[in-house]
Amino acid sequence: MSDVIRACVDRVIPTARRMEAQALAEAENPDNLIPPGEPAPLSGAVDTRKLWKVGRVLNVAFVDGIPAVQQKVADIALTWTEFANIGLDFGDNPNAEIRISFAQPGSWSYIGVDALLIEPPNPTMNFGWLTPATNDEEYQRVVLHEFGHALGMIHEHQNPANEIPWNREAVLDYYMGPPNNWAKHQVESNIFQAYARQHTKYTDFDLLSIMRYPIPREHLADPAWGAGHDVEWQNYQLSEVDKQFIAECYPFDE
Ligand SMILES: [Zn+2]
Repeated sequence: MSDVIRACVDRVIPTARRMEAQALAEAENPDNLIPPGEPAPLSGAVDTRKLWKVGRVLNVAFVDGIPAVQQKVADIALTWTEFANIGLDFGDNPNAEIRISFAQPGSWSYIGVDALLIEPPNPTMNFGWLTPATNDEEYQRVVLHEFGHALGMIHEHQNPANEIPWNREAVLDYYMGPPNNWAKHQVESNIFQAYARQHTKYTDFDLLSIMRYPIPREHLADPAWGAGHDVEWQNYQLSEVDKQFIAECYPFDE
């Protein structure tokens, strides 16, 4: 793999605020309700559903950045609204639900309605390496991915249906080194840990998802895994499953 992977790090609500996050999520969209008998969000490192209300128009504002870069981000983000019954209204509302910065390191976003827990003017999403010179594929890759999180999507390689045979030692070495410099627990929570099945609207594992990290072959214990697919490929378009999935989360016919 020649390109360095610049990986997105999930923004996770601290344990102390998880009950609050769950209450907000349930108030927003009944699809976020945890069925009776299922573990509560405090019971482990699992995630809950974080979907917005179907049909909601989300206000989106930039807290900093260059207009030309902001415009590109807005144009690409709107792709999701072709498939999801969600509006994205870009403007300068200081209390916008989604607030975007370019000033912090890395690329990241809070997941779905977790953004409601973040006090303005703190950003809920960040693009740390987009500049006017960044190529279009990288814009597509990173903007579609972070807005996938903002609509409540999790990393595809953490889909509970995934069967990726990780070479744990190689993965730890890679992400704990530069340029990512993650702590071991960040590798655990961003790569290895699968979300709980009952808490995600999961589909079958989708190698082509915009929400999957590229997987260098040397990170696999079984190098033949995913044969026929370029698992190292950095997805830069919504896959057919991404489109279907988000349409199920936010249907137009309700
Ligand atoms: Zn991500």
